[in-house]
Amino acid sequence: MPATKFICPDGQETPILKCLNRCPKKERCMFLPTLRAVVKSLDRGIEEPTVTELISGVRETYLKKTTDYAIDPQSALYALQGQAVHTLHEECTEGEILSEVRLKDALTSGKFDMYGKILDESDGTLGDLKVTSSYKIMKALGIHKVDVATGEVYKTGARKGQPKTRKEIRYGGVRHVMDWAIQLNYYRMLLEKAGFTVKRMVIQAICRDNSLRTASERGIEQTVYLIPIHKISDQWLERYFAKKAAMLKEALETKKMPPVCSNRERWGGRKCLDFCEARAECPFAKELRMMNLMKVG
Ligand code: SF4
Repeated sequence: MPATKFICPDGQETPILKCLNRCPKKERCMFLPTLRAVVKSLDRGIEEPTVTELISGVRETYLKKTTDYAIDPQSALYALQGQAVHTLHEECTEGEILSEVRLKDALTSGKFDMYGKILDESDGTLGDLKVTSSYKIMKALGIHKVDVATGEVYKTGARKGQPKTRKEIRYGGVRHVMDWAIQLNYYRMLLEKAGFTVKRMVIQAICRDNSLRTASERGIEQTVYLIPIHKISDQWLERYFAKKAAMLKEALETKKMPPVCSNRERWGGRKCLDFCEARAECPFAKELRMMNLMKVG
């Protein structure tokens, strides 16, 4: 089931229907149509697990499908921005471009963003739009920071005598695009099964914070980046999705909590602490929060 409650700015939870009918607070935290748009974006009415759901941790998807979880409408606004960009593009794909078609196979279904002559006159480019942070784009482009000695040393304090360093940007490192690559490659496979030839795959990443100093400190100077995605073998994709679909199916049938999400799926724990929408229902996230509190205390 999609989220059923909103987390209000004071931290209290309000059932979504109650919020939409009449806000129990002094006044709404945002315009009613914005809240309605957030709600509309939550339920897409798709029965089978989608490609994006299967890329997430099985536990996360299970909890989001089975519990009455709550979301903060403020954080849902980023997703809304992304959807608005998709809608604008959808209205401009006339000609030899296919867009926003949902394709299915026995395991899952996925809606690709666009396919066709989208970058040049050669047919067969599969494109995906991402509206995302400069941090994610930096990682996807393989930009990273290294410590470079300044030639000076600390003269006082705990680090006295140690060399001083400054951060410098380096390009051409490992590109962290695994989830995007899995997603786009699955769409490629679905398109190929439907008889289309995919010659290349490209992500168009739109930076939502590119005017901020933090973005330029991360080496992100443009608003839009084209990020090529390499092919992943069909056999690997099929095994990966079949395993996760089977785990999810079993958990839903037995109502048994699936294993904790992998380190990659939970972003090394960052997702569990601040970003996963199912974190309030997840014992692992509760433990992690407790451990963090103990460290601080
Ligand atoms: S809180 Fe972490 S481990 Fe729990 S479902 Fe979310 S991502 Fe997975």
